[in-house]
Amino acid sequence: MIKRIKSQFPIFKSHPKLIYFDSAATTFKPESVIRAITNYYENLGANVHRGVYSLAEQTTLAFEKAREKIASFINASPEEIIFVRNTSEAINLVALGFLQKRLKKGDLILSTILEHHSNYLSYLQLAKERNASFICAPLKKDGRLDIDFLKEHLKEACFLAITKVSNLTGEILALEEIVQKAQKLSLPILLDAAQAAAHLPLDVKKLPVDFLAFSGHKVYGPTGIGVLYVKKERQKELFPIFFGGEMVITVKKNHQPVFNQPPYRFEAGTPAIAETIGLAEAIRFIEKLGWPTIIEHEKKLCEYMLTKLLSLEGVQLIGPKTPVSRLAIFSLAIPGVHPHDLAQLLDEKGIAVRAGQVCAAPAVHAFGQEAILRASLAVYNQKSEIDKFITVLKEAISFLKR
Ligand code: PMP
Repeated sequence: MIKRIKSQFPIFKSHPKLIYFDSAATTFKPESVIRAITNYYENLGANVHRGVYSLAEQTTLAFEKAREKIASFINASPEEIIFVRNTSEAINLVALGFLQKRLKKGDLILSTILEHHSNYLSYLQLAKERNASFICAPLKKDGRLDIDFLKEHLKEACFLAITKVSNLTGEILALEEIVQKAQKLSLPILLDAAQAAAHLPLDVKKLPVDFLAFSGHKVYGPTGIGVLYVKKERQKELFPIFFGGEMVITVKKNHQPVFNQPPYRFEAGTPAIAETIGLAEAIRFIEKLGWPTIIEHEKKLCEYMLTKLLSLEGVQLIGPKTPVSRLAIFSLAIPGVHPHDLAQLLDEKGIAVRAGQVCAAPAVHAFGQEAILRASLAVYNQKSEIDKFITVLKEAISFLKR
C-alpha cells in the first residue's frame, strides 16, 4: 500500500533515498496536484470573475468548483471559504479585520501557550496597541495543556484563538467542550487547523468554530494558497483589510464603494488560480486514499516511532508525559547535544528533519528548552524509514557526545 502512495509523489523519483521527516513544515505534492497546476497554465490560463469569453468562463468555473471542493473538505458552504496565501495570512485577516475593529482597552484575548507564532503574535501586538490583555493557557505539571484555565477565563474573554494540533508536541487538543461553552457565550473562536488538516477530518458543523484557518502546502497542496473559513453568521463582523479589484461591485460617482458579497469582498486582486485548483486536487488525493486508510497508517507509524524513541537513552520526548491522542510529530531534546548539529548529521545520511524553535518559541520555552529537533511524518512515510532514523540518530548522538 505504501509503495502505491509513495509512487504518486514525483519528488521521491528525484530523491529516491530521501527520508523526509519534515512534513509539519510542508508536505510533498502528489503528481495529480502538479498536473492540475500545469493543466491550468496549459489549457485554461485566463483570469477569474472578469472576462466574458469562454476561456475566462471555464477558468472561473474551475476556480469556483475548487472552492466547492475545499468547502466540502471541512463541511462548510462555498460562500464561507475565503482564499488567502496561507494560515498566517488567514489569522492576520481575522486579527485585523475582525478583532482589531472591536477590541477595547481592558478586553481579554484568550489563547494557549502551544500556539505557533502565527496564532500568537498578531494578538500580542493588538493587545499592546489597545491596552488589552492577552493571556495563554499554560501547561499542567504532566505537560498537557491546561484546558481548565481556558474554561475559567471564557466569561471574561472577547476572543479565543486555539490550535487543533500542536506543531511542537503533536498533541491533538480535545476542544468539543470548550467550543460548546464558548458558543453559549457567543465568544468568537478561531481554530488553527494548519497541522490538523492533512491528518484528521475537520467538520465545522461538528466543531462549530467561527473561524478556521489552514494552508494548502501542508495538505499535499501547493504553496501560496490558504483557506480562511468564516461562519456565515460572523461574516458581517469581518471587515476587508485588502482593497482592490473584484472586492467591490462598483464605486459610485460620489466615490462610495459598493462592496461585493463574501467571500469576494475579502479577496482583492487576482487570486492564486492555479494553486486553488491544485488545492482542490490535493483534497481529491486525500479523499481517494480515504480517512480510515490515512489515520490507520499514520497511527501505526506514530506508535512505532513512540516505542522506539521512548527506549532511547538520553533522548527526551517533548510533550505530555502521559499518553495522549496525538499525530506523528515528535520533538526531541538531547541534553548536551545541539539540535542543529544533529540535524546536520542526519542530513548527511539523507534524513530531513527540523531543528530550532519550530516557530513556537513560547511552547518550546514552556517545556524548558531553547531549541529542539523535530521529526514529523505523513502518509508517504514507512516503518523502515523510522528504523533508519533511529539508527542514525543513535550514531549521531554518540558521535556528538564523544
Ligand atoms: N499554525 C501552525 C500550527 C503551524 O504549524 C503553522 C506552520 N508551521 C502555521 C500556523 C503557519 O502556517 P503558514 O506558514 O503556512 O502560514
